[in-house]
Amino acid sequence: MKRPAPSTTAQKRQDLREHMAQRVLRYLWWILLLVAGIQLFNILHALVYTGWRLHTPASRVYVLLYACLLVVSLLGLACVPFLKRSLPRSAGLTLWLQWIYCGFLLCWAVMVTLYDQRVGPGAETYLTVLLTVAVLAELPPVPAAVLLGVPQIALMLALPYYQPTKQDNFGLYLNSTVLAAVAIFIACYRYLSQKRQHEGAQLILEKNREIAEKNRELMYLVGHDSLTGLYNRRFLDLRLPAICADCAEHGKHLGMMMIDIDDFKLYNDQFGHQMGDACLDQVSQALLGCLQSEGEYILRYGGEEFLYLGSGADTAAVRRRGEEMCAAVRALALHAAGKPSPVTVSIGACAAVPQDKSAWQTLIRRADQALYTAKHQGKDQVVCDTGEGR
Ligand code: GH3
Ligand code: MG
Ligand code: MG
Repeated sequence: MKRPAPSTTAQKRQDLREHMAQRVLRYLWWILLLVAGIQLFNILHALVYTGWRLHTPASRVYVLLYACLLVVSLLGLACVPFLKRSLPRSAGLTLWLQWIYCGFLLCWAVMVTLYDQRVGPGAETYLTVLLTVAVLAELPPVPAAVLLGVPQIALMLALPYYQPTKQDNFGLYLNSTVLAAVAIFIACYRYLSQKRQHEGAQLILEKNREIAEKNRELMYLVGHDSLTGLYNRRFLDLRLPAICADCAEHGKHLGMMMIDIDDFKLYNDQFGHQMGDACLDQVSQALLGCLQSEGEYILRYGGEEFLYLGSGADTAAVRRRGEEMCAAVRALALHAAGKPSPVTVSIGACAAVPQDKSAWQTLIRRADQALYTAKHQGKDQVVCDTGEGR
């Protein structure tokens, strides 16, 4: 799907959210699977260890805790395909669910660790989960501080109440606090470097889009006349040989007309060059309006001269189109210089089935000669070189 350029801050934020959600969904399913697998193993281990009876309260509490994490992990696993399918809509939800799962994992580790205090002062489960979350989850600063900091504080506050005898917990507090700080740093660092990387990639994409846009503009400017918007003479070099070759290959006529505004120098002299420019523009639009098929082109050949090309247009067709063009320019009713009649054009036309891709040069010469004849015969007319006497 082609996506629009993320120009506003809100769009950029949404784009980053989608990117992070895609990353989460790429690896989350196997983490959930791993956690679920470990809990299943723990439950089986506890059952085998107690001869499938779970006769001690401790074994029942532990199995309950393992089962809780197993169920939550399986639920998460079930959500992954749905979240993947609903992207990018589900990007925000995915990130929230990731944070909730990390929070749940840490609370679960705190509970296991507190229960563990009956048999020893260690906090291995909590520390392992803390580091696992730090390494696997990429968290923005605030969620990282909340998710990794709050369970740490809760653990330190609750620890003495779960210890059967009074203990000196200073070492454990210090180690776990340092580790929690390191965990916050790792999770944030990974998030921020991922964010920077994504923004860099977006910037390159945006620049590429701008370059492509500029290239399109440049191609337009190179191929079009700035005053009239018509194709310019580069069309002859770029497209005409191919059109000519296509006509030659398929045995089609190529019709050509050289069109020249009558007494345009006089027009400029009388009304000024700005009015002359406006007249040129209006005449070119009138000529353009006469084109009827995709194989017809009109281009600005020189100052007040235009060239018509008609792929598939024979002598009768170009003559007809020429008459229509003369009438269209006359219908503009632009006041001509030094005479009561409006601005007019003279047209020299010809058509032939080209023999090869360079035959267009002969056609232009013939159209040009026909134009001179039209000028000498009194202007405002079409003269068609039918090729007779050749
Ligand atoms: P004819 O009927 O024989 O074609 O006479 P003409 O006056 O039209 O022909 P001529 O070749 O003597 O003059 C063409 C004029 O077109 C001269 C030039 O100043 C004007 N011209 C060429 N390009 C432009 C343009 O871009 N803008 C304006 N305003 N005038 C232009
Ligand atoms: Mg001229
Ligand atoms: Mg002229």
